[in-house]
Amino acid sequence: MKSAVAADAPSGIGCARMSNAVQEKLVELAKASLYPNYAQPPIVIVRGRGCDLWDASGRQYLDLFAGIAVNTLGHAHPRLVSAIATQAASVMHVSNYYYNEPNLRLAARLCSLTGLARVLFSNSGTEAIEAMLKLARRHFYVRGEQDRYRVVAFDNAFHGRTMGSLAVTGQPKYRDGFGPLLGVTHVPFGDVSAVRAAMAPDVAAILVEPIQGEGGVIPAPPGFLAALRATADEHGALLLGDEVQTGVGRTGAFLGFQREGVVPDAVALAKAMGGGFPIGAVAAGEILIGALPPGSHGSTFAGNALASAAALAVLDVIEEEGLVEGARTKGEHLAQGLTEVASRHPTKIVTSRGVGLLQALVLAPDVAAAKVLGAVREEGVLLTLAGGALRFSPALTITLEELDRGLACVDRALAKC
Ligand SMILES: *Cc1c(COP(=O)(O)O)cnc(C)c1O
Repeated sequence: MKSAVAADAPSGIGCARMSNAVQEKLVELAKASLYPNYAQPPIVIVRGRGCDLWDASGRQYLDLFAGIAVNTLGHAHPRLVSAIATQAASVMHVSNYYYNEPNLRLAARLCSLTGLARVLFSNSGTEAIEAMLKLARRHFYVRGEQDRYRVVAFDNAFHGRTMGSLAVTGQPKYRDGFGPLLGVTHVPFGDVSAVRAAMAPDVAAILVEPIQGEGGVIPAPPGFLAALRATADEHGALLLGDEVQTGVGRTGAFLGFQREGVVPDAVALAKAMGGGFPIGAVAAGEILIGALPPGSHGSTFAGNALASAAALAVLDVIEEEGLVEGARTKGEHLAQGLTEVASRHPTKIVTSRGVGLLQALVLAPDVAAAKVLGAVREEGVLLTLAGGALRFSPALTITLEELDRGLACVDRALAKC
């Protein structure tokens, strides 16, 4: 079944009717064998190139979500493909019993890009958050302050799905049914006095996304991150940044925190890092180097040579093509376009907001968000929903022409809805 799809991977609408049966067969396979914890539409993606994706029926889509802010270089970027192929033909994995070269080069690059002292690798965003929480708790433990364990986090935040990450996530839809989730106080995002009120000698860290991603693309108010830095310092607590969605250039700076000139004690990265290859990391400041001595934390796959080579290729292309600066200029173009779309559909769109290439159209409360998403897809554009907003998180390699084409499709979809 699989090889049949690959062999006649459709290249145009000419073969659409014939391959519809292929797609239907695959969807049957999904229904019969996949655990039903997602709710996909009946579409099986078989191929990608740049910002274009094709499904098994031969239909082409413009990808403006990039696998949830992951496919930094779009799909099948030749540099990423060849870096992965070359590394795979050399050595993929040795475990952390030994060093591997791409991983060391990647760690050095991340230190210099984040301005932090050391890098601890993981395989995903949630694992990076777990590692960062363990880092914070054990930092105080080795200093004889084992009573400092609580984390101050924010309502509407998203930090991942494992138990520790879930505990700091501030949205009932992710938390319900998994309690008790301990050791966290949630306060309103952007509210400095609520943060101050939550501070006490048992607080180990404040954890924050510079822009709440899953929460609906909500940027921290100007000065908020700096106020958190000052508050953490005042109380001897750590400031931890979740840059899993914002990091690696998407906001027009390598880190979202850098836009505000604020340096956290540690940041978590993942999504965009490997350009589609799973990898995550925590970059930690000097102060945290003694927190997790040998044996206290680890992961079999973390920092493997294949994932590291992929991430290095992503960083190389980002640098050579000026994609961080590009995210700023393209982001301004996108923001402008979204403002215009919003103004043409005032009953459906409340506002547009975002930073760089992480933007959103905020839907009116009475608009059926899933319907809009479906209508946009019918126009040939793939987006995601985040906190009641239509989220745009395209590849950093996207062109202005593609953004304009996408905006026109979204505009048409909203008119039809
Ligand atoms: C996606 C995301 C995570 C979790 O990453 P996974 O790789 O899905 O585990 C954590 N924090 C933020 C801000 C995210 O967007």
